[in-house]
Amino acid sequence: MTVRSILDTKGHHVVSVEPEAQLSAVIKLLCERKIGAVLVMNQTRVDGILSERDIVRVLGERGASVLEEPVSNAMTRKVVNCRENDTVAEIMEMMTTGKFRHVPVVENGKVVGLISIGDVVKSRVEEYEREQEALRDYIKTA
Ligand code: AMP
Repeated sequence: MTVRSILDTKGHHVVSVEPEAQLSAVIKLLCERKIGAVLVMNQTRVDGILSERDIVRVLGERGASVLEEPVSNAMTRKVVNCRENDTVAEIMEMMTTGKFRHVPVVENGKVVGLISIGDVVKSRVEEYEREQEALRDYIKTA
Protein backbone atom coordinates (compact mmCIF):
# COMPACT_ATOMS: atom_id res chain seq x y z
CA MET A 1 0.00 0.00 0.00
CA THR A 2 1.30 3.45 -0.90
CA VAL A 3 0.53 7.06 -0.01
CA ARG A 4 -0.92 7.41 -3.54
CA SER A 5 -3.57 4.75 -2.81
CA ILE A 6 -4.63 6.62 0.36
CA LEU A 7 -4.91 9.91 -1.54
CA ASP A 8 -6.92 8.21 -4.32
CA THR A 9 -9.62 7.47 -1.72
CA LYS A 10 -9.21 10.45 0.58
CA GLY A 11 -8.62 13.16 -2.01
CA HIS A 12 -5.93 15.79 -2.42
CA HIS A 13 -7.46 18.72 -0.55
CA VAL A 14 -5.22 20.24 2.14
CA VAL A 15 -6.39 22.83 4.66
CA SER A 16 -3.82 25.60 4.92
CA VAL A 17 -3.43 29.09 6.40
CA GLU A 18 -1.09 32.02 5.82
CA PRO A 19 1.76 32.64 8.31
CA GLU A 20 0.12 35.95 9.34
CA ALA A 21 -3.21 34.31 10.31
CA GLN A 22 -4.11 34.91 13.96
CA LEU A 23 -3.78 31.81 16.14
CA SER A 24 -7.36 32.20 17.46
CA ALA A 25 -8.69 32.12 13.88
CA VAL A 26 -6.70 28.97 13.14
CA ILE A 27 -8.09 27.28 16.26
CA LYS A 28 -11.60 28.11 14.99
CA LEU A 29 -10.70 26.57 11.62
CA LEU A 30 -9.41 23.35 13.25
CA CYS A 31 -12.71 23.09 15.18
CA GLU A 32 -14.90 23.78 12.14
CA ARG A 33 -13.08 21.27 9.92
CA LYS A 34 -12.67 18.71 12.75
CA ILE A 35 -8.95 18.33 11.97
CA GLY A 36 -5.84 18.24 14.13
CA ALA A 37 -3.37 20.23 12.03
CA VAL A 38 -3.03 22.79 9.23
CA LEU A 39 -0.19 23.54 6.87
CA VAL A 40 1.13 27.09 7.07
CA MET A 41 1.74 28.19 3.50
CA ASN A 42 3.16 31.27 1.81
CA GLN A 43 1.57 31.00 -1.67
CA THR A 44 2.73 27.49 -2.69
CA ARG A 45 5.68 27.26 -0.26
CA VAL A 46 5.28 25.32 3.00
CA ASP A 47 6.50 27.57 5.84
CA GLY A 48 5.45 25.24 8.63
CA ILE A 49 2.81 23.04 10.24
CA LEU A 50 0.62 23.79 13.24
CA SER A 51 -1.07 21.03 15.22
CA GLU A 52 -3.19 20.90 18.37
CA ARG A 53 -0.02 20.03 20.27
CA ASP A 54 1.65 23.31 19.28
CA ILE A 55 -1.37 25.25 20.53
CA VAL A 56 -1.27 23.50 23.91
CA ARG A 57 2.50 24.09 24.12
CA VAL A 58 2.42 27.84 23.39
CA LEU A 59 -0.58 28.36 25.68
CA GLY A 60 1.31 26.56 28.46
CA GLU A 61 4.51 28.48 27.83
CA ARG A 62 3.22 31.98 27.08
CA GLY A 63 -0.41 32.18 28.21
CA ALA A 64 -3.63 33.25 26.46
CA SER A 65 -2.17 36.41 24.90
CA VAL A 66 -0.52 34.13 22.30
CA LEU A 67 -3.99 33.64 20.77
CA GLU A 68 -3.71 37.12 19.25
CA GLU A 69 -0.30 36.41 17.71
CA PRO A 70 0.35 35.14 14.16
CA VAL A 71 0.39 31.40 13.66
CA SER A 72 4.05 31.65 12.54
CA ASN A 73 4.97 32.22 16.22
CA ALA A 74 3.59 28.81 17.19
CA MET A 75 4.20 26.52 14.18
CA THR A 76 6.92 23.94 13.59
CA ARG A 77 9.18 25.21 10.81
CA LYS A 78 11.11 22.08 9.85
CA VAL A 79 8.43 19.97 8.18
CA VAL A 80 9.04 16.34 7.21
CA ASN A 81 7.36 15.46 3.90
CA CYS A 82 6.65 12.27 2.02
CA ARG A 83 6.15 11.28 -1.63
CA GLU A 84 3.19 9.57 -3.29
CA ASN A 85 5.30 6.48 -3.94
CA ASP A 86 6.22 6.01 -0.26
CA THR A 87 4.65 2.99 1.39
CA VAL A 88 2.25 3.16 4.32
CA ALA A 89 4.84 1.21 6.37
CA GLU A 90 7.41 3.95 5.65
CA ILE A 91 4.98 6.67 6.77
CA MET A 92 4.29 4.75 10.01
CA GLU A 93 8.04 4.60 10.63
CA MET A 94 8.35 8.34 9.88
CA MET A 95 5.54 9.21 12.31
CA THR A 96 6.91 6.94 15.05
CA THR A 97 10.48 8.24 14.75
CA GLY A 98 9.48 11.93 14.43
CA LYS A 99 6.68 11.68 17.06
CA PHE A 100 4.12 13.44 14.85
CA ARG A 101 0.80 12.38 13.31
CA HIS A 102 0.64 14.40 10.09
CA VAL A 103 2.79 14.24 6.95
CA PRO A 104 2.35 16.48 3.88
CA VAL A 105 2.73 14.79 0.50
CA VAL A 106 4.98 16.80 -1.83
CA GLU A 107 5.60 16.13 -5.54
CA ASN A 108 7.82 18.41 -7.66
CA GLY A 109 7.85 21.02 -4.91
CA LYS A 110 4.04 21.14 -4.79
CA VAL A 111 1.82 19.94 -1.91
CA VAL A 112 -0.56 17.28 -3.28
CA GLY A 113 -2.09 15.99 -0.04
CA LEU A 114 -1.72 15.39 3.68
CA ILE A 115 -1.67 12.02 5.44
CA SER A 116 -2.78 11.77 9.08
CA ILE A 117 -2.27 8.89 11.49
CA GLY A 118 -6.02 8.23 11.14
CA ASP A 119 -5.56 7.65 7.39
CA VAL A 120 -2.67 5.26 8.11
CA VAL A 121 -4.66 3.26 10.68
CA LYS A 122 -7.70 3.08 8.36
CA SER A 123 -5.53 1.83 5.50
CA ARG A 124 -3.86 -0.84 7.70
CA VAL A 125 -7.21 -2.07 9.07
CA GLU A 126 -8.60 -2.38 5.52
CA GLU A 127 -5.47 -4.28 4.48
CA TYR A 128 -5.86 -6.76 7.39
CA GLU A 129 -9.55 -7.21 6.54
CA ARG A 130 -8.69 -7.98 2.90
CA GLU A 131 -6.05 -10.52 4.02
CA GLN A 132 -8.53 -12.19 6.40
CA GLU A 133 -11.14 -12.36 3.65
CA ALA A 134 -8.61 -13.91 1.25
CA LEU A 135 -7.58 -16.48 3.89
CA ARG A 136 -11.25 -17.34 4.59
CA ASP A 137 -11.86 -17.82 0.85
CA TYR A 138 -8.75 -19.97 0.58
CA ILE A 139 -9.84 -22.21 3.49
CA LYS A 140 -13.38 -22.55 2.09
CA THR A 141 -12.13 -23.67 -1.31
CA ALA A 142 -9.18 -25.80 -0.10
P1 AMP B 1 1.05 16.02 15.74
O1 AMP B 1 1.35 14.71 16.41
O2 AMP B 1 0.98 15.88 14.24
O3 AMP B 1 -0.12 16.71 16.34
O4 AMP B 1 2.32 16.97 15.96
C1 AMP B 1 3.20 16.89 17.05
C2 AMP B 1 4.31 17.94 16.83
O5 AMP B 1 5.04 17.64 15.62
C3 AMP B 1 3.84 19.37 16.65
O6 AMP B 1 4.81 20.24 17.19
C4 AMP B 1 3.75 19.56 15.15
O7 AMP B 1 3.93 20.89 14.71
C5 AMP B 1 4.91 18.70 14.68
N1 AMP B 1 4.67 18.09 13.38
C6 AMP B 1 3.52 17.58 12.91
N2 AMP B 1 3.68 17.07 11.69
C7 AMP B 1 4.98 17.26 11.36
C8 AMP B 1 5.78 16.97 10.21
N3 AMP B 1 5.29 16.34 9.14
N4 AMP B 1 7.08 17.34 10.23
C9 AMP B 1 7.62 17.96 11.31
N5 AMP B 1 6.92 18.25 12.42
C10 AMP B 1 5.61 17.91 12.46
